Amino acid sequence: MSKKQYRIAVIPGDGIGKEVMPEGLRVLEVAAKKHGVSVQFDHFDFSSYDYYEKHGQMMPDDWKEKIGKHDAIYFGAVGWPAKIPDHVSLWGSLIKFRREFDQYVNLRPVRLMPGVPSPLANRKPGDIDFWVVRENTEGEYSSVGGRMFPDTDREFVTQQTVMTRIGVDRILKFAFELAQSRPKKHLTSATKSNGISITMPYWDERVEAMAKTFPGVKWDKYHIDILTANFVLHPDWFDVVVGSNLFGDILSDLGPACTGTIGIAPSGNINPERNFPSVFEPVHGSAPDIAGQGIANPIGMIWSGAMMFEHLGEKEAGKSIVDAIERTLAERTLRTKDLGGNADTTACGKAVAEMVD
Ligand code: ATP
Ligand code: MG
Repeated sequence: MSKKQYRIAVIPGDGIGKEVMPEGLRVLEVAAKKHGVSVQFDHFDFSSYDYYEKHGQMMPDDWKEKIGKHDAIYFGAVGWPAKIPDHVSLWGSLIKFRREFDQYVNLRPVRLMPGVPSPLANRKPGDIDFWVVRENTEGEYSSVGGRMFPDTDREFVTQQTVMTRIGVDRILKFAFELAQSRPKKHLTSATKSNGISITMPYWDERVEAMAKTFPGVKWDKYHIDILTANFVLHPDWFDVVVGSNLFGDILSDLGPACTGTIGIAPSGNINPERNFPSVFEPVHGSAPDIAGQGIANPIGMIWSGAMMFEHLGEKEAGKSIVDAIERTLAERTLRTKDLGGNADTTACGKAVAEMVD
């Protein structure tokens, strides 16, 4: 039993974000009650459809005061591409959170759930169960560089990778700590030091240095090319996989793709020190093609809520949700269209909520 009352900023956003959020909240409320977690949800309408249309921006100017003191942000999806370009929606909300709240970890589980068809042949639940940890603030995604002599035959462009010791060490520390907390205690680092000859050897060097402070963790490294192949060929080899911004980006899409539908994949953008709120959101977007039909799979949203509880330190409540998802999927009776069923979003959310214990 924890005495603290958590305050969660709830931002459903656009499209199916608004449809899956109520199911996420439904399940969180049940798990909170069963595990004695006290939680208050404050709703915000930051979005393209409800907010940008009226105000010409995604969030009010004082958004940071409004949500910066919350314990976490539970986020659906933003985007209304018919009216507002995707980059405006994203840079006007999520990317601001990542930067202003120093969410330097992007975390995604890769876990094959029962009854979910994997594109990989002959894999059973239990074979694939690992985490991808992506550096979220620097690396290859810097805007350092430029273009000269445009539209001439002397034209050239350059863009730099930026790695700072603080930035590299903090993501590695997070990944090693996660590995240490797991039964296998195994960390894999993504590199490419045979081709990228300055920054990647530096990354490797910092991995080696960090490994010395985690003597209980076994570690190895693979070049990104063979590592992606091994995600497909030997997903059972992995436990925690850490990568720079670019490599982590690739791996954190490939991993969940190996375990089935985008509708169930969750993610966290995390500030591990808890100086700022972290964001928990499904991997999918606002999915305008199916919005308004009530058929979206709410499991990505629900599972993101489980990650949020775990981040807050409410491990049992979090685990009870993941177990409930697993049992619901295993029973195969209430599944949404993307999983071959005909249950609607609400029926699926209710089924998971009933499984929580
Ligand atoms: P983005 O925000 O990346 O632009 P999007 O909103 O354009 O994303 P995605 O969310 O990436 O779309 O969805 C890709 C495809 O997967 C779409 O056809 C969409 O209908 C489907 N999809 C996404 N999420 C779900 C879900 N929760 N349940 C069922 N289908 C989904
Ligand atoms: Mg889109």
